Amino acid sequence: MKEKYDYINLKNYKLNLKWILPIFIVIAILSFLGFNYIKALTYRNIYTTISELGNQTVAQLNLSINEQKQFVNTMIDSINRGYFENESEIFDNYADDLKSHHFTRLAILDRKGNGLTSDGYTVTNYPITDDFFNFEDVYLSDNRKSTISDDQINIYSRAFYLNGKEKVLFATIYTEDYKEILLRRLYNGLGGTYLINNDGIVLIDSFDLIKENKVNLYDFIINRYSVTNNEKLAKINQMEENIKNKGTGTFDITLSKDTYFIHYENVGINDWYVISIVPASAMANELNQFIAISLGVCILINCIVIGICVYIDVSNQSKNHKLYKAAYVDPVTLLGNENYFKENSKMFLDKLNGNRYIITLDINKFKSINSLYGYDFCNKLLNVLGEKLKEVLPQNNITCRMYSDVFAIIFEYDKDVKQVIKKISDNISNINVDNINIHLSISMGVYKIKKSDTDINKILDKAYIARRQIKGTYSNNYYMFDDALERALLKEEDIETSMEEALKNKEFKIIYQPKFSTENEKIVGAESLVRWYKNGATIMPNNFIPLFEKDKFILKLDLYIFEQVCKDLAYWKKEFDASLRISVNVSKEHFVDENFIQEYVKIANKYDVDTSNLELEITESATIDKNIDVVKIVNKIKSYGFSISLDDFGTGYSSLAMLQELPIDVIKIDKVFVDKANFDSDKNIINYMVLIAKQMGTEIVVEGVETKEQADFIKSLGCDIIQGYYYSKPIEKENMEEYLKDKDFSADLNC
Ligand code: C2E
Ligand code: CA
Ligand code: CA
Repeated sequence: MKEKYDYINLKNYKLNLKWILPIFIVIAILSFLGFNYIKALTYRNIYTTISELGNQTVAQLNLSINEQKQFVNTMIDSINRGYFENESEIFDNYADDLKSHHFTRLAILDRKGNGLTSDGYTVTNYPITDDFFNFEDVYLSDNRKSTISDDQINIYSRAFYLNGKEKVLFATIYTEDYKEILLRRLYNGLGGTYLINNDGIVLIDSFDLIKENKVNLYDFIINRYSVTNNEKLAKINQMEENIKNKGTGTFDITLSKDTYFIHYENVGINDWYVISIVPASAMANELNQFIAISLGVCILINCIVIGICVYIDVSNQSKNHKLYKAAYVDPVTLLGNENYFKENSKMFLDKLNGNRYIITLDINKFKSINSLYGYDFCNKLLNVLGEKLKEVLPQNNITCRMYSDVFAIIFEYDKDVKQVIKKISDNISNINVDNINIHLSISMGVYKIKKSDTDINKILDKAYIARRQIKGTYSNNYYMFDDALERALLKEEDIETSMEEALKNKEFKIIYQPKFSTENEKIVGAESLVRWYKNGATIMPNNFIPLFEKDKFILKLDLYIFEQVCKDLAYWKKEFDASLRISVNVSKEHFVDENFIQEYVKIANKYDVDTSNLELEITESATIDKNIDVVKIVNKIKSYGFSISLDDFGTGYSSLAMLQELPIDVIKIDKVFVDKANFDSDKNIINYMVLIAKQMGTEIVVEGVETKEQADFIKSLGCDIIQGYYYSKPIEKENMEEYLKDKDFSADLNC
């Protein structure tokens, strides 16, 4: 961590591309598909529009041509009915109607092509084909050049008899005039129409681009737009093919830069076709609308989706941030908490190449400061402490508050780590909070992290263990975790992993330390003591009992030992008729469960041992635990008939008031007092203890008596029982039986 709060900062939201990008891509693809779909729709729309225009043009053309044909038929009918004597009568009669039917002139010719026109021209040798000489119906010719003027004309013709002679009536129309009927300019003149025949020859061109005669439309398009692209050529060929087969169709083709929509449709007369052509640019409105709509829709959808994504992401991130804060940030110091430390230290350590250290730190007598200045003040104090730590530590560090007043720090430092330690002590020895100067003394456990250390819990444990070495002494404010400590730790680990196995393998055994009456120096009972025989070595209880107490294994072991004692008592009773009182150590860990004694009762009953032969030793320190109602528990134990002794008396600082409430049978004065005993002085502390015990009416056992001098002194004080090496070290069960065999024990067990 480079900055103090960098891991809780959410100032700059970063777009989370990991999931927003795929969504964006999906939306883009959907937009593209949608865009194409709308484009297809629009094209279909344009196709429909242009088809309709083509249809209308065809219908219009049909109507006009049929009207003109009808007019010709009407004339022929009248002629056939014999209304007219000669050509000029016919011409005169229809002179007025000609104009209104868009005809230029009439001509009546014989088979050889000779005759007159209605406007007074003489025609000679006009090339008349059979098509023209049709008696049944009106024939409409393709474009041709007028023999009278240079204009393009079309001829409507039908044969008839006049005065018994075969004649043919020509009604001619300027091709130009068709344009007016036919070619309503489409889209302000940008679009237009061609009338072509089956061979593709252009009859009428509304664009006025084609001046020559007999121009092929397909070639014209290909040449005009220099079409070389095969795909485009194929489209043109397709049209040509379809027209040959009298088909109708619509398609689009890009020529030069513009796209053209083309519709072709059979007129139904003379295999003529109407080709409607509209460039896309002419339909700009429709296309622009389409582009605007589809782009608008795409942009809108994209914006909405991205908006939603960002919204979700931001709210997720802020939710995560809140969760993160709750899970990883210590609200008092705004440093990381224990979780943060445990989850991030490993990664942090992996990145460091130099010397890496861990320091755990706590304030001495923090409880007193807390009760003196109050909770809020102490929170501020911890906050300032956190800030100060950050200030003085090497830049590359993780600093967290683990709990209460305990901080853990990991950092990299290549010079002498004592410099860092000194800096920390110097800087936080005086802290100012709310204008109050507090002098702080701290304890630090320091451990140089090895390359092989990978488990952060173990690393942390080492720093904690190191710190514990100074607690209470305060002679130094730091302790470096050293090899001696490492070895002790390894031993602990070894013990912890093997205890369950050991119980199964019966590695735990009892020995008994006899207790002697001061009066007659005879044995009055014994204390059972456990030994662990492991791989040929004997492990003494002080090396494993504290460990077992840490993980509750002591509960099992105590019951196991108690059961062995019951077995032995039952055996001794049977074999030697001996009714000894044996004391058994009961760890205070049992007291967590108020009903623990039931198990003891069950076992005693199982071996049919009288509970009055059993004395349970509880340490004085067990009686001062505030969380346990000792009075209630002791009373319960007593109610089952067990005797109770208070072990290590004088070391536990229990109050006299409390002791008086406890129905204790025996007080065991600890060895330390025997060692310190000043035999000459009446003011010896043992004197007072004996006084207290006597006042309470309990038996007194003095432990750890090693010399005759000590034994005499104890006797002189009027103590009842001595347990010590002077009389006997703890002995095997078999050695105990020597005493029993000889009936060499005091009859009066209650002294
Ligand atoms: P404790 O209950 O105070 O037991 C007395 C200890 O003092 C025994 O050590 C005994 O060997 C030792 N001792 C007795 N007389 C003398 C003497 O004259 N000189 C010296 N130097 N020592 C003497 P031990 O057997 O090593 O037991 C140590 C402690 O382990 C016991 O202290 C007891 O607290 C615990 N312990 C032993 N067995 C059990 C057990 O089965 N369950 C529980 N919970 N704790 C046990
Ligand atoms: Ca004991
Ligand atoms: Ca003791």
